[in-house]
Amino acid sequence: MELFWHRRDLRVADSVGLAAATGTGVEGVDRGPAAAVFVFDPDVLDHASDVRVRRLLDGLAALRDDYRERGSDLLVARGDPATVLPRLADALDAERVVWNRDYSGLARERDAGVRRALDAADVEREAHHDAILHDPDAIRTNAGDPYSVYSYYWKKWTDRAKDDPRPAPTAEGLVDADALAAAVDPDARADGGASVERVAVGDLPTPADLGFAEPDAEIGPAGTAAARERLSAFLDEAVFTYEAERDYPAKGATSRLSAFLKYGEIGVREAYAATAEAMSEAASDARPDDAPEQVEEFQQQLAWREFYTQVLFHNPEVVTENFKTYEEGIEWRDDPGEIAAWKRGETGYPIVDAGMRQLREEAFMHNRVRMIVASFLTKDLLADWRHGYDHFREHLADHDTANDNGGWQWAASTGTDAQPYFRIFNPMTQGERYDPDAEYIAEYVPELRGVDADLIHEWHELSPTQRANAAPEYPAPIVDHSERREEALAMYKRARGED
Ligand code: FAD
Repeated sequence: MELFWHRRDLRVADSVGLAAATGTGVEGVDRGPAAAVFVFDPDVLDHASDVRVRRLLDGLAALRDDYRERGSDLLVARGDPATVLPRLADALDAERVVWNRDYSGLARERDAGVRRALDAADVEREAHHDAILHDPDAIRTNAGDPYSVYSYYWKKWTDRAKDDPRPAPTAEGLVDADALAAAVDPDARADGGASVERVAVGDLPTPADLGFAEPDAEIGPAGTAAARERLSAFLDEAVFTYEAERDYPAKGATSRLSAFLKYGEIGVREAYAATAEAMSEAASDARPDDAPEQVEEFQQQLAWREFYTQVLFHNPEVVTENFKTYEEGIEWRDDPGEIAAWKRGETGYPIVDAGMRQLREEAFMHNRVRMIVASFLTKDLLADWRHGYDHFREHLADHDTANDNGGWQWAASTGTDAQPYFRIFNPMTQGERYDPDAEYIAEYVPELRGVDADLIHEWHELSPTQRANAAPEYPAPIVDHSERREEALAMYKRARGED
């Protein structure tokens, strides 16, 4: 028997590690059956949030159902994996513990502890590359260094051959549910069994059991079936206009796959293979000439995910430190009142407020708006990007250390942005360009519903009386964008030692 340890790969299909553990579709490998376990690690829970715990539990419930459909079940344990896994391997008489690699710094530290514990217990172990299409070490510059500029990375990424999706295990590859129950129940074992208390078969805790509350946000569906439904709906039509429409938040033109990818409810090989099929269709006469570019733009987003994963892998310190350092350091203003208004979505800049409220309501925010609110926090409020990162980390269902950190540092000009420091978004022109009819704004900012879009996009220029007449409940801008823009330029100049 094998023991497969699930982490950020809550699926049975297209999993390199699970396919290896069960022997499914792996030539020359005679393995299995496998038992699957998820371990609630108190150290990981220390960094979690209400939103993410709810989303994780939903994903685990879907995963457990996928195992049950195959006559097996999901073991659920609590404790330090370095203690739980050797004990469980012993209780199950498992030959080996198998898992898919996680590339963030904390996960790598944890995995090193698990490796040591399994070695000490004389249990074999095997870790697989699975989470992204190309191993973080696979794509390097010609000089052998990791890439820090996306456009160059993308060129190599897109030219590389991609692996096929892995088949899902059948019932034969998995330990039968009754056998699992007997194996983890010490009373049922003639020899008394190893101590595996706090391991349950398919019994998931509630958020409260783990010390969390039910979040206020409406969190979307979870699990592989929902992810596949979403991907196929997106690839049916929206992908063929993706590049043209992806920046307009009211159009809902993106895939909304991010939380599914974050929790690994859909494998990236499967997702990419589906885009490759869409690419063949895009090249057919039935589609407009620019359809292939539209599909490629979507593949580019999958590549951004891989780019940031390798940035984090090679630079684990970026979780708390600037990727790009400034000689003198940046002197952030960090005004608590302004940061609080940004978090509440009460800055008086309509597109910013709409985004911050979408985040609270849906545990999601559209990508263009994430860029706008991040620029606003760092370059209008002159607040350290870490305040924004922490807030996103708490409220996003799709929070992914690599992508979230990459996005924030890009916006703060401390990251991998190839542009110099003066990329500063104007929140009013961004709103006007990408939400011209103020539909997205009206959806999330009820105080502005029914107000003419022109007035909304001129909010910063209106007199107090005009504002009071148009939308008495909505605040005046808390800062003057033009003034703050100058201050931001001066702040970065000082940081570069150019003062
Ligand atoms: P689509 O446009 O349909 O893209 C498909 C997939 O590609 C996404 O699901 C995601 O996995 C990946 N992707 C798309 N854009 C990016 C990007 N810029 N960087 C990395 N991967 C990308 N994405 C997260 O997954 N988790 C985060 O915590 C996160 N935080 C962000 C913070 C900031 C400040 C910014 C500017 C961006 C952040 N992003 C994050 C990237 C991006 O905003 C989201 O991936 C995207 O909005 C998710 O919506 P979607 O699935 O409809 O995307």
